[in-house]
Amino acid sequence: MVPQIKYTKLFIDNEWVDAKSGKTFETFNPHDGSVIAKVARGDKEDIDAAVSAAKRAFHRNSEWRLLDASKRGELLNKFADLVARDIAYLAELESYNNGMVLNMAKTFIGTTPATIRYVASLADKIHGDTIPADGEIFSYTLKQPVGVCGLILPWNGPILMFLNKVCTALAAGCTVVVKPAEQTPLTALALGALLKEAGVPKGVVNIVTGFGEDAGVALTHHLDVAKISFTGSLEVGKLIQKAAGTNNLKRVTLELGGKSPLVIMNDADLQQAVPVAAMGVFGLQGQMCIAASRLYVQSGIYDKFVEESVKFAKNLKIGNPADPSTMHGPQVEEVMMNKVLGYIEKGKQEGAKLQTGGKRVGTTGYYIEPTVFSDVTDDMTIAKEEIFGPVQSILKFDTLEEVVDRANATNYGLAAGIFTSNINTALQYSKLVEAGIVWVNTYLAFNPQCPFGGFKESGIGRENGMHCVDEYLEVKTVTIAL
Ligand code: NAD
Repeated sequence: MVPQIKYTKLFIDNEWVDAKSGKTFETFNPHDGSVIAKVARGDKEDIDAAVSAAKRAFHRNSEWRLLDASKRGELLNKFADLVARDIAYLAELESYNNGMVLNMAKTFIGTTPATIRYVASLADKIHGDTIPADGEIFSYTLKQPVGVCGLILPWNGPILMFLNKVCTALAAGCTVVVKPAEQTPLTALALGALLKEAGVPKGVVNIVTGFGEDAGVALTHHLDVAKISFTGSLEVGKLIQKAAGTNNLKRVTLELGGKSPLVIMNDADLQQAVPVAAMGVFGLQGQMCIAASRLYVQSGIYDKFVEESVKFAKNLKIGNPADPSTMHGPQVEEVMMNKVLGYIEKGKQEGAKLQTGGKRVGTTGYYIEPTVFSDVTDDMTIAKEEIFGPVQSILKFDTLEEVVDRANATNYGLAAGIFTSNINTALQYSKLVEAGIVWVNTYLAFNPQCPFGGFKESGIGRENGMHCVDEYLEVKTVTIAL
């Protein structure tokens, strides 16, 4: 069933408005490339209007600023109830616009009310310290919302990214302007409607759909924006940090790419490791910043592991993401599909052994077969660059020491994993690998209580976890003469 599309305009000051230029852009269904809606194309003028609304809502006398912290938590809990009520619809819309397999979308989005409630519970636990003074002064600290925040989203997990950023900023007491990815604008707008229904005052959340080159750039350069939280590519992350540093020195949180190493030791449980490793790179068609895109398998089990991985990949049923039996859907758009196919060609040219997959499926829609390469070496492009597609690259290693160095030989540092039955091996690897998240005998296991973010060029700052609101707060020290 095709989900109804209710919102295609900009959401500013709790109103649905056209872009001031009157422009729109088309958004697509990746299953067949058909246009599913025309959405308002916001640019600098609309960003100006949205930031003005967010600034008014942040004024010291505004309804939002005068609201008790506990009431902010209550609003977020009300919002969580509404998201829970609409999960089926939100999952269908996400799947329709992004190509996410519907069953997976339901599971993912099904977890979000609990995540929102976790963040809501932090709203009234924001407080500073008292600082003992032995002289003639006494100090305490206040934690205060940073101000208007620009939240720039990617297309690969539109609902999750929206909720992580918006709910945390609201728990901290900030106001926001959201710029969803141009490929997937629809679910962000649907969530805007739910925030309004929950009773969030006008101007607190504003959503400007449009492109990075105009709406995104305008937001990152706006002088009234105090902070940018961005999830997306390393390339754009660097542009954003530069923009943030050129005028009013915005605070930045960056969640960027990855080239995450998953290590399989000889003593691993293969029955457990093969499917987890495969879904670690084939889940969401490989469009995950945390994809296990470098699979290091120890030499004693290498051949067997490759054989089992090929079997697994061949059994993934490819098809329309809306079909409940589908396990593998399309890439989000034609450009991304071609980029991934280009990497597959490069892998073949550079001497990796194509074990299965490697081709586009059909001629409409953006499907790529789950692809397995063996005999991959660290110097190959597919082992170095983020592919963001369903490509499993299997590399061989002999010792733990060797694999730690090879795992760390990358500019990225987002996630890492290991399968082993030896606790000491697991602890050693977890300590030495340079990554913000390490999974042992599992992969892609999430919990809102756990911080998420990367080392090195995978980003700056953390989302989730009990300190996530600190990313949206300033600390003020007050010192009093006694
Ligand atoms: P992207 O960087 O091209 O776009 C992300 C967002 O930035 C979009 O909303 C886009 O419109 C906007 N944008 C583009 N140029 C801009 C500019 N100059 N100024 C301001 N905004 C601009 O990334 P993408 O293609 O949407 O997503 C794929 C990438 O994101 C991958 O590299 C992936 O690893 C990364 N990613 C990281 C995480 C994480 O949590 N670390 C999560 C998802 C995706």
